[in-house]
Amino acid sequence: APVRLTILGSGWGAFRLLKDICPKTYSVTVVSPRNHVLFTPMLPSASVGTVSTRSITESLRPLCIEKGARLCEAHAEHLDLKKKTVQCRSLHGERYTVPYDRLVLAVGKKANDFGIPGVQRNAFFIKETADARRLREALLTRFEEAACIVARSSTCGLRPSDEQVAQVEQLLRVIVVGGGPISAGFSEHLVDFIGRDVRRTYPDLIPYMSVHLVEWASCTQIHRKDQALREYMLQRLSQRSGVQLHRGEHIEGVTQSELRLESGRSIPYGTLVWNAGMKPVPIVQSADLPKARNDSKVRTDECLR
Ligand SMILES: Cc1cc2nc3c(=O)[nH]c(=O)nc-3n(C[C@H](O)[C@H](O)[C@H](O)COP(=O)(O)OP(=O)(O)OC[C@H]3O[C@@H](n4cnc5c(N)ncnc54)[C@H](O)[C@@H]3O)c2cc1C
Repeated sequence: APVRLTILGSGWGAFRLLKDICPKTYSVTVVSPRNHVLFTPMLPSASVGTVSTRSITESLRPLCIEKGARLCEAHAEHLDLKKKTVQCRSLHGERYTVPYDRLVLAVGKKANDFGIPGVQRNAFFIKETADARRLREALLTRFEEAACIVARSSTCGLRPSDEQVAQVEQLLRVIVVGGGPISAGFSEHLVDFIGRDVRRTYPDLIPYMSVHLVEWASCTQIHRKDQALREYMLQRLSQRSGVQLHRGEHIEGVTQSELRLESGRSIPYGTLVWNAGMKPVPIVQSADLPKARNDSKVRTDECLR
């Protein structure tokens, strides 16, 4: 009888594996809350609307049909490695168990807020298509709010007051926290978007807009191997794209309108985008598998076993 293979996840890893699976050897069940593969490198463009979220996803169903695989839209919640079962919860809340002979963990990672107060509630992330849609919606809402303030004073033939200028500048200040390639890529897309689309649609707002990249000190540690490349990337962002850099900062907390730094400084913002690193998803954190020291990443051999 074919081996029962259960694949958790429908991202890059799962998709690649499924493509190579021999349906005669394996009877495959895919469990993932997402029924599509997401082309993540295009997610920053989708966040500013340069491409639509539809054009950066591909349904996994055709490949599942080709491979005779079952696809269940569900979260894997618990692994029982002794009984060889996965406890799952469907998107409608039903709980059920999937047995396996072989298990593939391809659940990716989730955004890491490092437990900093206020991040989950106030920041936007760039991980899923829903994140991209939320971020785009938020940016457009801020633009409209700012346009309304600017239009109110110009209707009366006046310049905006100092207070109004500060309010508009804050609404149109986007802070990106991170310092790795995703933050840099998103900042660059945002600057392009402002230079092309916003300049055309909201020309009066251009003088008030700013993009800030806060390089969190811990990110410097994460990316320390690529220091030269990283320096080049940040300098280019600052000199060519006009992104304002705040380097090596420690973040104390986030409120609805301010990023608080440990140095005592606060930066008011309209939109905060958090890209400061990733952490294992709960099912990996709780799984009784050998883990790397000081981390909850699963330890594997060179064949990812
Ligand atoms: C904005 C962005 C841009 C990127 N750009 C690049 C790039 O240019 N080049 C590059 O090499 N890499 C890039 N990456 C990184 C790349 O996307 C990841 O390395 C890659 O997606 C990892 O593949 P994966 O299969 O391990 O996880 P993912 O692709 O993240 O897939 C994880 C899957 O597991 C599912 N899942 C999560 N929890 C559960 C659960 N409990 N039960 C079942 N399923 C679950 C998810 O829904 C998802 O389907 C980028 C990432 C992002 C976010």
